Amino acid sequence: MDERSASGRTPLLLHACCGPCSLEPVRLLREEGFEPTICWVNPNIQPVAEHDLRLRVLRDWAARVAHVDVIVGADDRDGWERLVAPAAFDRGRRCRACYALRLAETCRIARARGFSHVSTTLAVSPYQLFDACEDALVTLARAQGLHAVWRDVRDRYPDAVRGARELGMYRQSYCGCRFSAAEAARERHEARDARRAAKAAARAGRVLTEAGPSRLVTGT
Ligand code: SF4
Repeated sequence: MDERSASGRTPLLLHACCGPCSLEPVRLLREEGFEPTICWVNPNIQPVAEHDLRLRVLRDWAARVAHVDVIVGADDRDGWERLVAPAAFDRGRRCRACYALRLAETCRIARARGFSHVSTTLAVSPYQLFDACEDALVTLARAQGLHAVWRDVRDRYPDAVRGARELGMYRQSYCGCRFSAAEAARERHEARDARRAAKAAARAGRVLTEAGPSRLVTGT
């Protein structure tokens, strides 16, 4: 592939984890002079129906709004179970292996299709392990003779959320794998319990205030 596309921009293969997380990276990469083609490689997303829904949302936005091509890579679920799932709830180890699996396939496709630059939308999410993800992208790109385009765009996450809302895009409540779904559910429960405890404490405080300080002195 030529270093310059017909648009005069530099072609870049952009691994995308979902539609909402693609909004800002595509916009910012274009501003920087790149022309992204999206690469979908996400065998981590479970169940398969959720994977298909996220892919459908991404494709719809890419075709109707962003006018960006989408390449769908291998859905290597056996590989994910073999190389990632054994780490289970060890999040650091699990996510590192997950990034490596997805970005290795993205870099392989980039090389095979003649791209010289690669990136990933994972850089926009404050929920990802930023340094581990950068490390995986840079290492795997270098191994394929590619340039990794890695920018810290986490401050654009609120814009991505707002943009996705305005477009009526489906937004998931967990990263992708079954372990992240369980972790997200636990965090939601913990947050709900904390809210309830705070409300109960506030109610109790109101009752004590209304009762007045003299009533609080007992046993004298
Ligand atoms: S939390 Fe996300 S990045 Fe980490 S293993 Fe699960 S799907 Fe992959």
